[in-house]
Amino acid sequence: MARYFGSKCRLCRREAAKLFLKGEKCFSDKCAIERRNYGPGLHGQRRRKVSDYGVHLREKQKIKRTYCLLEKQFRNYFEKASRMSGVTGENLLVLLERRLDNVVYRLGFSASRSEARQVVSHKQILVNGNCVNIASYLVKPGDRIAVDETCRNHLRIKGAMESAMRRSFPSWLEVDPVSLSGTFVSFPDRADLPADYNENLIVELYSK
Ligand code: SF4
Repeated sequence: MARYFGSKCRLCRREAAKLFLKGEKCFSDKCAIERRNYGPGLHGQRRRKVSDYGVHLREKQKIKRTYCLLEKQFRNYFEKASRMSGVTGENLLVLLERRLDNVVYRLGFSASRSEARQVVSHKQILVNGNCVNIASYLVKPGDRIAVDETCRNHLRIKGAMESAMRRSFPSWLEVDPVSLSGTFVSFPDRADLPADYNENLIVELYSK
């Protein structure tokens, strides 16, 4: 599977937004956005006039990079969202939130989505008691997600849960930090998802 191997902080600086790609570092003063809040590269500090297309493109790139996806995968989610009933942009965000790697991250079993993907692919996650090692698996309401019993003492997972507990968990998930398990209660509402996502720009971009 293709993956992005470059600097993650560079992606945040390019989008001029915190995408939370590096776990605990993102909440510290070592965050690159806090230190150098301008674009990456030699000409990053230059002021640029952004075209209308650029505004649409940047929003798409921001959300795509937040969920650690590549263009083809993201486009496939958009196609799927546009075939569903309801508002395409909201369908897209809900589909992204339902990915197993995202749910594992939101439940606090990993410090970042890329780490969640590794945890899932290493067969450390059970869905309704069955091992699932596909990061793109779409979780449904009522599904119970748990860390495999043999991995509950892993320092990385415990550390991620401790730092997640210092923040809050999303309202559409129920989390049991002691047994390292949780339930995907319902699909998230648009109001539950980050207000700074402008999914309509993505719909407009792909509809051009
Ligand atoms: Fe982005 Fe996290 Fe790096 Fe900050 S530390 S720039 S939020 S990846």
